[in-house]
Amino acid sequence: MSLAHGRSYLAIPGPSVMPDRVLNAMHRAAPNIYEGAMVEMTKGLIPDLKRVALCSGHVAIYIANGHGGWEAAIANMFSRGDTALVALTGRFGVGWAEAARRMGVQVETIDFGLKTPADPEAIADALAKDAGHRIKAVLVTHVDTATGVRNDIAAIRAKMDEVGHPALLAVDCIASLGCDEFRFDDWGVDVMVAASQKGLMVPPGLSFVWLSDKAVAACAGGDMATPYWDWTPRIDVNEYYQFFCGTAPTHHLFGLRESLTMILDEEGIENVWARHRTLSEAVWAALEAWGKGGDIAMNIADPNRRGRSVTAVRIGGGGAGRLRKWLETEAGVTLGIGLGMAAPSDPNYGDFLRIAHMGHLNAHMVLGVLGTIEAGMIALGIPHGKGALEAAAAVIARG
Ligand SMILES: *Cc1c(COP(=O)(O)O)cnc(C)c1O
Repeated sequence: MSLAHGRSYLAIPGPSVMPDRVLNAMHRAAPNIYEGAMVEMTKGLIPDLKRVALCSGHVAIYIANGHGGWEAAIANMFSRGDTALVALTGRFGVGWAEAARRMGVQVETIDFGLKTPADPEAIADALAKDAGHRIKAVLVTHVDTATGVRNDIAAIRAKMDEVGHPALLAVDCIASLGCDEFRFDDWGVDVMVAASQKGLMVPPGLSFVWLSDKAVAACAGGDMATPYWDWTPRIDVNEYYQFFCGTAPTHHLFGLRESLTMILDEEGIENVWARHRTLSEAVWAALEAWGKGGDIAMNIADPNRRGRSVTAVRIGGGGAGRLRKWLETEAGVTLGIGLGMAAPSDPNYGDFLRIAHMGHLNAHMVLGVLGTIEAGMIALGIPHGKGALEAAAAVIARG
């Protein structure tokens, strides 16, 4: 007998849970992609995509996952041989740096390890040493989905401005947009990348690059963007075909229309952030309590620097791996694997997991996940502190 039958719940940090309304909006006949409702609907998505990022600049939509979005940003920002400075705070910063290197960019990295955010001062120091202004852009992950760290983008911008270096600031918000507070204009961001399948609650397949007027001007005439990736026609559309350099991702766009309406017009972006803040604090309260009586700890010690969409956790003695398996087979909940925290050959490889709390989720879903984690720890004999569910419930009750 298994208690997993019933509606399953994928609590991994992307793809996230999708609203039935988004799925239903996609369930329709193929539309005409040359004129009519589809074309009008797409034009309306542009201002709403800018609203969700609090960006008054531009946005280009690509048929791609987040890795494609990374390459879109790189292909347009750099010319061959340009230099990028990449802040590493986990697996995803490493991945973006590697893509840039493979595409012909000179990549310099500053590694901040797996437990702490990027230090704005260290980034400014590296820029100050670059007297010849070879560094074209600084690449930072807002929330690194592997470590769960949340970098302080506004502070990084402020330090960059202090040293008076002209580098662009490019941010990966794939794990944070539509979950964690993000303000493109106010924080002085030049380029930002996100994808459809996390906070935006749409199936994987779309990625987006937002850009400032400064980025448009600074990157004009680059030699890396091939016709598909070039953002120039995509942000200045005369013909519908230019939006996507070919056939539109028709059904994804209907799903996106529905999700943006839910986020912006029904709930409101600030309320979306507030909901994620409270739900993440409920998860953290439970983990704190469990950790008092067992070898259980959140990866990022400072709650002010944790992402509100995903929490990376260590449970010693291989407990994380056993717990994930139990939850999936006995409770219908799938948690995220640990990513980049230990090599598969490392004896501690099974000590890491991630709890996603991004997108279409509410109090009962979070309390359900926490309750089943507690049941799993009891079933598996994993030592843990008491009072976790009361602590989480108190956070939810506070609102
Ligand atoms: C998920 C994620 C990516 C990669 O996105 P894919 O759609 O899997 O290619 C990149 N960066 C961050 C921060 C992510 O969370």
